[in-house]
Amino acid sequence: MAKFTFVGGIHPYDGKDLSKDKPIRDILPEGEVVYPLSQHIGAPARAVVAKGDRVLAGQKIAESAGFVSVPVYASVSGTVKAIEPRRVVTGDMVMSIILDNDTRYESVDFAPGAPPEEMAREEIIECIRQAGIVGMGGAGFPTHVKLSPKEPGKIDYVIVNCAECEPYLTSDYRRMLEEPEKLVGGLKILLRLFENAHGILAVEDNKPDCIELLKRLTREETGISVKALKTKYPQGAERQLIYASTGRKINSSMLPADVGCVVNNVDTVVAVYRAIVEGRPLIERIVTVTGDAVARPQNFRVRIGTSYSELIRAAGGFKGEPEKVICGGPMMGFAMFDLNVPTTKTSTALLALTKDEVSAMEPGPCINCGRCVEACPGRVIPSRLADYAERFDEEAFLENNGMECCECGCCSFICPAKRPLTQEIKSMRKLLLAKRKK
Ligand code: SF4
Ligand code: SF4
Repeated sequence: MAKFTFVGGIHPYDGKDLSKDKPIRDILPEGEVVYPLSQHIGAPARAVVAKGDRVLAGQKIAESAGFVSVPVYASVSGTVKAIEPRRVVTGDMVMSIILDNDTRYESVDFAPGAPPEEMAREEIIECIRQAGIVGMGGAGFPTHVKLSPKEPGKIDYVIVNCAECEPYLTSDYRRMLEEPEKLVGGLKILLRLFENAHGILAVEDNKPDCIELLKRLTREETGISVKALKTKYPQGAERQLIYASTGRKINSSMLPADVGCVVNNVDTVVAVYRAIVEGRPLIERIVTVTGDAVARPQNFRVRIGTSYSELIRAAGGFKGEPEKVICGGPMMGFAMFDLNVPTTKTSTALLALTKDEVSAMEPGPCINCGRCVEACPGRVIPSRLADYAERFDEEAFLENNGMECCECGCCSFICPAKRPLTQEIKSMRKLLLAKRKK
């Protein structure tokens, strides 16, 4: 089997055995359901309901407020209790629509449109926009914008990111095993948008069952290949994935479209299939609830807006007190301090660990071992960048290509001195990106 990969990277403990063999389980929220109006990059959606309105699952409750914006749909039936700022996973207060869930789960009738073969390019993109679809791997970039490059004829590859390289996460794995037809169907729809493009399903080789299944399903599809990528973190990071799958390189100031690529993750492609073929807007997603502090780790099909506290209850609660609870994976996720916050379109996982090994270790001085440089997929010098960041030396940080960091966390992971390299570099990048926006 050919192995495709990139330079750098690490091999952390993957923890996937905890949840990978459990079939996806549907759960329905019981408590109130909260829909932040900003679950995507771009302008927050604009509420089209008012306090006291009764709504059904699948009903639009907020419309997009510009090109880089998407609507939000109710995922349960109930009454609008309030429209007010609510806390989200990042700790920020975000204007949200709160539904008093009537637990009847009554839904609008979903009406599929014309078969995709009969739809024009613009109709497919508009349908994806109207369905409220965003990058569900965590980025939240509106998918219709990503699918609208200036020159669609110059797109050579539509890549589906099936790597799922973050340790512990298995939601994409289960989706690929349980609904591979929808994934391939979604990719075929995306390929209709780019007449010269070839489809690539890029899967890490620690999922041989998915590789085999997808190869079988696409045997007759000359326009689609399945690529087995070497298992290595961060194989699923956009730049590394593009390089491993096509040999093309991008830097921080380029878009994948600049090298003829469009990349979407598994859940997003399935959402595209469901929007076009089934007429369903984005109201649910798969979330991995896992970690050694969770009683019954597994994957749930979650109605968006369900509180994380309900997910942990559905997984049997905690086995003792978790030392660390993370939203997302251990490498790129962030610590959660309150479980009473809503899941959103970009919620991939809830990870609870009995030991926070990182915070248990005191950072020491750099011993110049060079391991961070070797592991860095961005080909920068993390130890040096962290020093510049610590001193707020913007000029030196930029001169040393600090913006090429993809915040993957490899350097912090590998550093024997436990220096908070990623943290320092990330803070500096955030500052510089905010300056650029101004
Ligand atoms: S400097 Fe950035 S890209 Fe390089 S290893 Fe650290 S976090 Fe990853
Ligand atoms: S891995 Fe840590 S100790 Fe080694 S060079 Fe990098 S910062 Fe220094």
